[in-house]
Amino acid sequence: MNFQSKLPDVSTTIFTVMSALAARHGAINLSQGYPNFEVDQHLKDLVNKYVQQGQNQYAPMTGVPVLRQAISRKKKLLYHVSVDPDDEITITNGATEAIYSAISAFISPGDEVIIFEPAYDSYIPSILVNGGRPISIRLKSPEFKINWNEVKDKITSRTKMIMINTPHNPTGSVLSDEDLLSLEKIVEDSDILILSDEVYQHLIYDGLEHQSILLYPELFRRSMVIMSFGKTFHATGWRIGYVVAPRSITSEIRKVHQYNTFSINRPLQHALAEYLEKPAHYLDLPKFYQQKRDLFSDAISSSKFELIPSLGTYFILAYYRKISDLSDQEFARWMTIEKGVAVIPISSFYSDDTDEHIIRFCFAKTDELLAEAAELINQVE
Ligand code: GLN
Repeated sequence: MNFQSKLPDVSTTIFTVMSALAARHGAINLSQGYPNFEVDQHLKDLVNKYVQQGQNQYAPMTGVPVLRQAISRKKKLLYHVSVDPDDEITITNGATEAIYSAISAFISPGDEVIIFEPAYDSYIPSILVNGGRPISIRLKSPEFKINWNEVKDKITSRTKMIMINTPHNPTGSVLSDEDLLSLEKIVEDSDILILSDEVYQHLIYDGLEHQSILLYPELFRRSMVIMSFGKTFHATGWRIGYVVAPRSITSEIRKVHQYNTFSINRPLQHALAEYLEKPAHYLDLPKFYQQKRDLFSDAISSSKFELIPSLGTYFILAYYRKISDLSDQEFARWMTIEKGVAVIPISSFYSDDTDEHIIRFCFAKTDELLAEAAELINQVE
């Protein structure tokens, strides 16, 4: 068959590649981001309860009302905002579908979307497949801060959207109040939309507070805020996320969502709605993960890797320049096959050949597994 690929430069996502390599070689998998510990038994019991209760047919296209209401209450508690559960919240098949549906709803051929690199690997393909043009801005290591003057310079009459991500995957950097105010100033007289990927909203450390777009009414009116239960409740395999956006934006996103996935797993939505009633189920997360970040960082502090401080997410970056001259892709393979620890090469988050000899570790693992991994990492020279 003769056809032209719409995404000729896209290959299988690095997370799938590295997890498969880790499995094939029996390596400890600190590559793809997911916890190796269990979902709370209470949450599992709730799933069973709703399956037994007969919540097994299609959920409403927008998500089950009790879950949207629980999310709305949570936004009130955390960010002191009123979000309409009927018209401003849509449950999606994980954040990846939310990102795709949001981009697809608004990006037409020739539209420019400003993104920051390193960027999560689904962003660019989602823009390209809809005919959009990703406009990349580099975040410089090791701080990966946004230079807002550069953003201002990149805006043209074709700029349709700016995508931000805080806490940031893969760098672990977070946006401050100042950052959000700069963004607000830059877009104030424009029709530029903001897509804010906040899936790691609860994974933020050292007493920092998550700066959600929801805290900034002037930004929220032009935004879609994407969040996820996978990271929050250790259930990445459930694939349940959601988009919070003003009514007019939500209704456009739903036009795509309804023909993309139609609706999302019903019993799981009911279980999450009930589980959300106890805020401790998510408020304890910063402490829980900060302890893991510190345990892992301390355990490998005498290794030849140079760690870059992580303020959020369950990832931490490290330079390996004292160990090897290999490209980061080769180095990640070597670590997995020869050293028994799978990691993610950061060049996979760049659209060009940027390679700063940095790899990403995921520390969402039991303390025992982190200690075991650290022992192997400390032997790498
Ligand atoms: N978000 C996860 C990560 O960064 C991976 C998700 C996926 O595999 N699609 O590792």
